[in-house]
Amino acid sequence: MTTILQTDKLKNFIAGEWQEANPTVAVHNPATSEEIVHVPLSGKKEVDQAVAAAKQAQKEWALVPAPQRAEVLYEVGNIMKERKERLSQLLTMENGKVLEEARGEVQEGIDMAFYMAGEGRRLFGQTTPAELKDKFAMSQRCPVGVVGIITPWNFPIAIATWKSFPAIVAGNAVVWKPATETPIMAYELAKIFTEAGLPKGVLNVVFGSGASVGDAMVHHDDIRVISFTGSNDTGRDIAAACGRQLKKVSLEMGGKNAVIVMEDADLDLAAEGIIWSAFGTSGQRCTACSRVIVHEHVKEQLEERLLVKLEELTIGNGLDESIKIGPIINRAGLEKIKKYVQIGKEDGATLLAGGEEWKTNGELKGYFFTPTIFTDANATMRIAREEIFGPVVSLIPVKDFEEAIEVNNQVSYGLSSSIFTNDVNRVFRAQRDLDTGIVYVNAGTTGAEIHLPFGGTKGTGNGHRDSGVQALDVFTEWKAIYVDYSGKLQRAQIDIE
Ligand code: NAD
Repeated sequence: MTTILQTDKLKNFIAGEWQEANPTVAVHNPATSEEIVHVPLSGKKEVDQAVAAAKQAQKEWALVPAPQRAEVLYEVGNIMKERKERLSQLLTMENGKVLEEARGEVQEGIDMAFYMAGEGRRLFGQTTPAELKDKFAMSQRCPVGVVGIITPWNFPIAIATWKSFPAIVAGNAVVWKPATETPIMAYELAKIFTEAGLPKGVLNVVFGSGASVGDAMVHHDDIRVISFTGSNDTGRDIAAACGRQLKKVSLEMGGKNAVIVMEDADLDLAAEGIIWSAFGTSGQRCTACSRVIVHEHVKEQLEERLLVKLEELTIGNGLDESIKIGPIINRAGLEKIKKYVQIGKEDGATLLAGGEEWKTNGELKGYFFTPTIFTDANATMRIAREEIFGPVVSLIPVKDFEEAIEVNNQVSYGLSSSIFTNDVNRVFRAQRDLDTGIVYVNAGTTGAEIHLPFGGTKGTGNGHRDSGVQALDVFTEWKAIYVDYSGKLQRAQIDIE
């Protein structure tokens, strides 16, 4: 590992310097259990240093014209492009997702770099008529200051780019705490930013646990906004802490995403979409399909097709190009999946396929779970309501379109949904009535593109969005500016003729 990573111990990146911190903890490849690197478990002291560096650097950075700030992002995008294969291999090693998906995730970061670099010449505000004579009015986006970014392990580079790129192009400085399970992408991205010419202190990376580093960031007076992606429980705690401090907070949390299959759907296409969105990344995507709401007339035909497609899924080490399903991130993740399979059985759902840990015959020492399909589940079962975060999908039969929409909307999350149908009227009713932040028609529940807003309703978020131009709303404040060139006192709402 040292040969490809060139270090066996990562350091924090503070004020443009690599700083050692102790203690450290080993990071393991989830496919093999091999130790790949050590990462610091930092604390409040390192957070304070990083925030002080960010605060200092941000003053200068905010004065750099936005098109020049964007030049750094164009360069980041170029370097990421050159290093796409290296980054993808490292991503597979630390996270386990198969190489093809790792390449897709790195590509998402590259796309985000060029898209957000374009914002350097936009960052649009408004000019608007003033209500009084000889008066000018406009609104403008301003940086917030120091922003705190807290990211999960399941998309260790894409989510970081969704947050740090808009923050940086808008003139903020960043303190970023990546997930301890996947620190290598943060290390690589910090190196790329340095090579791209980002001034010292504009990006700082502090490694450590949520309870120490994350908590210190959330409670730091000089961090003006927290942008968090992770679980619902953690998000609620962070929102409560930020609320007490009147700190701006953007939350992207879990999902319980469904594919709806109507009786007129192309069932081969639907099966393909379900398999990809339920079992890709071993179901460890916030947008993973974990429910299939299927019209009762086509349930059996769909089941047959799913079982055939399941045969094509090879399980193993994602670095092997022939593998389609990689490991679960760690033992705790695997145990949670096993627990839910047991709950599904006890609640009366029928296990159609999978349902057990995948035994590796001793060749691989990682954590694997067989792609699992339950059928004849109903909307009240826990496997149909709670986030499992693994390769488990439950078929819920319904009698018509109206019931399908109702079942989709019954869960406490609202990230992504999809419908397979060839009826144009249903397509438009579904996109109107599905209560999720993302809706797909004749495609699975995954596959977001970076120039559209990403996020969800209800328990998935708190009204903000990652990526898209909407991400800028998290990292900027609006300022309204009035210029009176009449040479006399003009009172709004009063001196109107
Ligand atoms: P998690 O909530 O355990 O951790 C996420 C991050 O928060 C990590 O960096 C962690 O160290 C940090 N953290 C933990 N406790 C903290 C605290 N008290 N204060 C501050 N920071 C703290 O989530 P996870 O297990 O890493 O990720 C999986 C979850 O993320 C799933 O629920 C998944 O649906 C969700 N997710 C959502 C999206 C989305 O955009 N909606 C995308 C990816 C993942």
